Amino acid sequence: MSSTDFLIIGAGFSGLVIAERLASAGWKCVVADRRPHLGGNAHDRIDPAGVLIHPYGPHYFRTNSPRIVDYLSRFTTWHEVSYQIKSHTQGRYWSFPINLNTFEEFTGKPSTSEQFAAWLEKKRIPIEAPANSEEVIISQVGSELYELFFESYTRKQWKRHPRELDASVCGRVPIRTNRDNRYLTETFQALPAKGYTALFENLLAATPGINLHLGMDFTEAKSRFNYKHLIFTGAIDEYFGRRFGPLPYRSLRFEHESFNSDQLRHRESISGKPGFWQPAMQVNYPDADIPFTRIVEIKHATGQNIAASTILREFPKDWTPDDEPYYPIPAPDAHAAYQKYSQLAAAEKTTSFIGRLATYRYYNMDQVTAMALTEAEKLITRYT
Ligand code: FAD
Ligand code: UDP
Repeated sequence: MSSTDFLIIGAGFSGLVIAERLASAGWKCVVADRRPHLGGNAHDRIDPAGVLIHPYGPHYFRTNSPRIVDYLSRFTTWHEVSYQIKSHTQGRYWSFPINLNTFEEFTGKPSTSEQFAAWLEKKRIPIEAPANSEEVIISQVGSELYELFFESYTRKQWKRHPRELDASVCGRVPIRTNRDNRYLTETFQALPAKGYTALFENLLAATPGINLHLGMDFTEAKSRFNYKHLIFTGAIDEYFGRRFGPLPYRSLRFEHESFNSDQLRHRESISGKPGFWQPAMQVNYPDADIPFTRIVEIKHATGQNIAASTILREFPKDWTPDDEPYYPIPAPDAHAAYQKYSQLAAAEKTTSFIGRLATYRYYNMDQVTAMALTEAEKLITRYT
């Protein structure tokens, strides 16, 4: 057995950020991840066609927090992106998220923001405090647009009716009466210039004192290292042996397809841009009879200068213990099930549970980074 101060399970955003902070404060850290690579779900890599891909689904970095940008900027420069997506239904592409352009496509005639706002006022169903994902959308746009873009997509993604999901799920998609086509609302929207994996490689190169073990799971790590404090960023129910039953998760199956420049030439009339397969970085497919939810062509966002391109289709699926638990389910029954595990976690005085899976929260990368920074401060105060 070797000794370390902190044993950190998971080499994603949560695990590597907290490792960097603790090691920089002079502590010895071991980071173990059962996967063979850095970055957790944010991992990116060059595929056989030479394209930089996000193999676990698109990761669009965004934040309103200058503190998070300053912190991560120690390890990367940024490639600013105006993240733009489209929806594809009724056999055609639509501007999305819903905005004035979508409204013109819907009515088939030119319009103004005032006209669209007046239309929404007539169609929306006033609900003072929307309690679920159906109410949050119909209270803004009414039933027609909700059914067109949200209802079936959400049922496909979560295998639940939007009524059974927190308002924050569909509520995170903006709705605008101007012509702003950007998918996200945060003030800072950019990708690490050389990718997430390169960001984490830089973090490790800049931080002596982190001993990294890829391809090592928690059980093996526990048997190899003595530690005074454990930081766990995996699934909380797995940590506790699923003693209250598994928490509900939604999983995904990803299908990659690459195209060379000849093949892409045949797509130019659709993509509108030489070297691309589709007209936007992401196209959402709300139709119930299409088994995937979205197709991502990440080259639109990375700006990589390469003739080939790769697309990724995302097929939602039920989670089984053999699958990655990609999404905690933001719904009242799932939160209640999590509470039992959270109480067990609170009783573990020398273990910290951080990150998307260990706290069972539908969190973005900036949010888990913030959580890791805050927990590191607490631990440094406690152990100094
Ligand atoms: P993870 O990245 O899940 O890392 C946890 C690591 O722990 C994993 O590598 C896992 O292998 C390891 N691990 C777990 N259990 C064990 C064990 N027992 N032993 C050893 N290792 C273990 N966020 C955004 O900000 N923007 C986006 O556009 C975005 N898009 C997303 C799209 C998809 C499809 C998904 C699934 C998520 C997306 N996210 C996005 C969320 C983002 O992935 C998370 O916020 C972030 O990666 C969470 O980091 P983490 O370190 O908490 O967890
Ligand atoms: N959503 C939808 N239609 C869309 C896009 C999103 O119904 O075209 C809903 C769906 O329930 C989705 C949620 O809004 O899970 C949040 O969308 P987002 O694109 O942020 O999902 P993520 O990237 O986290 O999968």
